[in-house]
Amino acid sequence: MPTKLIKIDLDASPYENDSVHNRWHPDIPMVATVKPGDDFIVECFDWTGGAIKNDDSAEDVRDIDLTTVHFLSGPIGVEGAEPGDLLVVDLLDIGAFQEKLWGFNGFFSKKNGGGFLTEHFPLAQKSIWDIEGLFTTSRHIPRVRFPGLIHPGLIGCLPSKSMLETWNRREQGLIDTNPTRVPPLAAPPCAKTAHMGRLKGEAAATAAAEGARTVPPREHGGNCDIKDLSRGSRIFFPVYVPGGGLSMGDLHFSQGDGEITFCGAIEMAGWIHLRVGLIKDGMAKYAIRNPVFKPSPITPNFNDYLIFEGISVDEAGTQHYLDVHVAYRQACLNAIEYLKKFGYSGAQAYSILGTAPVQGHISGVVDIPNACATLYLPMEIFDFDIMPSAAGPIKAIAGGPDVCLAPDL
Ligand code: ZN
Repeated sequence: MPTKLIKIDLDASPYENDSVHNRWHPDIPMVATVKPGDDFIVECFDWTGGAIKNDDSAEDVRDIDLTTVHFLSGPIGVEGAEPGDLLVVDLLDIGAFQEKLWGFNGFFSKKNGGGFLTEHFPLAQKSIWDIEGLFTTSRHIPRVRFPGLIHPGLIGCLPSKSMLETWNRREQGLIDTNPTRVPPLAAPPCAKTAHMGRLKGEAAATAAAEGARTVPPREHGGNCDIKDLSRGSRIFFPVYVPGGGLSMGDLHFSQGDGEITFCGAIEMAGWIHLRVGLIKDGMAKYAIRNPVFKPSPITPNFNDYLIFEGISVDEAGTQHYLDVHVAYRQACLNAIEYLKKFGYSGAQAYSILGTAPVQGHISGVVDIPNACATLYLPMEIFDFDIMPSAAGPIKAIAGGPDVCLAPDL
């Protein structure tokens, strides 16, 4: 039996667990130290630390305090790890807890978090997904079922002091260009809700005031939300502090490329079985400044996709120059309008794109002035045919349940 290095109590607040933290800072003490070659198990809260319930109301999504996230398990020290090394992490297996076989997907209110399509879906909404072994279904979204490509949305090593200062400086610079924007341009440090793990007293207060929020992906990896970083993957992380300080969380049972719904994929609590290794001076040896990884040998086996194209012309008809963000948004909106023809609500279609293993591709970035992005929708996740035909779309969804909606703030 591998050692259970970090345990969590699903019924307790993550703030009571000192093997958990929700900011990045080099002074957060290691909760355990392992040797290269060791394998061990780490338990994780869902990214909100249990704030979202398995019920039919989206008020918890609407009202969440987003400065509390993400609750990460760690940091874990690795003997001999030094700045400049590569930490080799094998994700041997990942699973949900048998007593909590469900996850959630939602969209934040535009006034509290927003999301990729927040102009189109400005209110908080939520769907619950049941986990049945490899598969998932939702009582809020009929006639879809798919296997999970289970992965940690967030994993990485502690930053050095100078790297942390760089993050805070450049992100504050962006915020300063439009400080009152809703939703904000970036998430600055917030001491009030910081959980600094085993750092206590005055040192904790100082670090909390400058600890980087866990929202964006950065040089160390962090909140990359890559669906293909699934069980069976091997990741190579840059090391910035002695010991490395590996932390992880934000487990997803499944996610579409882009995690476009932001709250989020199919979010779950669970466990990861890992093995760690080291490549001394690996950053310089391989010119690695962001993590690289080898994906799992096991992936859901879809043969048929319907692929939606999008170009960098926005909803108002305005031309943008090679903007893949605009182009991917159009591909997603095209897929949503298409699925509505089968009877899905817009929110159900949006949720499917956020949760199912849809692929997003940057297909063209040189054909001025339009970028082309594509969204690959696996057709086998539906229990009816979604191919276009001369007969027109069948009304597959006629009334019935919908994604839960919370009244405006
Ligand atoms: Zn997530």
